[in-house]
Amino acid sequence: MRIARFSIDGNVAFGAVEGEGTVESGGLVLDIIKGIPYTDFELSGTKVPLSKVRLLPPVLPNKVVAIGRNYAEHAAELGNEVPEVPVAFFKPTTSVIGSGDAIEYPSFSNELHHEAELAVVIGRMCREVPRERVKDVVFGYTCANDVTARDAQQREKQWARAKGFDTSCPLGPWVETDLDPSDLAIQATVNGEQRQLGRTSDMIRSIEDLVVHITEAMTLLPGDVILTGTPAGVGPLNVGDEVAVTIEGIGTLTNKVIKRG
Ligand code: MG
Repeated sequence: MRIARFSIDGNVAFGAVEGEGTVESGGLVLDIIKGIPYTDFELSGTKVPLSKVRLLPPVLPNKVVAIGRNYAEHAAELGNEVPEVPVAFFKPTTSVIGSGDAIEYPSFSNELHHEAELAVVIGRMCREVPRERVKDVVFGYTCANDVTARDAQQREKQWARAKGFDTSCPLGPWVETDLDPSDLAIQATVNGEQRQLGRTSDMIRSIEDLVVHITEAMTLLPGDVILTGTPAGVGPLNVGDEVAVTIEGIGTLTNKVIKRG
């Protein structure tokens, strides 16, 4: 099931996405959900065309835990070794935006990069999750863009500003709950031109590895998000660009880059 979060007439709701097509092509309908998606919920049968609503980030995470350098070719393209232990960092909740929202180019950077990533959405509170239980704590998957001020990342020892500025974490367009994430095509385009193309099977650490590693340290809550790293081909974003992250079996997350007002 694809679950979107949206606003209509000033109200926020979750809905199951039905029909064929994309956000842009139209033809999709939302069946409004009664209750909270992570627990028991039912479809209300009340339907609205997706074209009539504003999509919001599909989840409101308590935290976004991101993993760096999880594809060997991407680590190499920036001159980095594959780390012995996964590199984990946070993106704050204020960095999260939805599909169709604008990425605001930060004033302290002259080198903004896109990073297409598979995002794992957690469905239940968990800590110290054993490998064989990982599938029980995952609610679903969505597309993410780990937008990075590369110059600031290189200048500053910690990445809080470089990867945590407002609008640096587009998520969406919805969460797909029925998906085998182990070998999916993942790509980024800028103004329709392909920049990144990889497969999730090229991840150095699997989703199971990452959930075990993160929950050794901290409790994950329903709606928390794990970004799983980006394949090779990262590159610049400029004001006016439209960047799209597409993952097989999920959909396309599209955002425009604007100057911060
Ligand atoms: Mg990244």
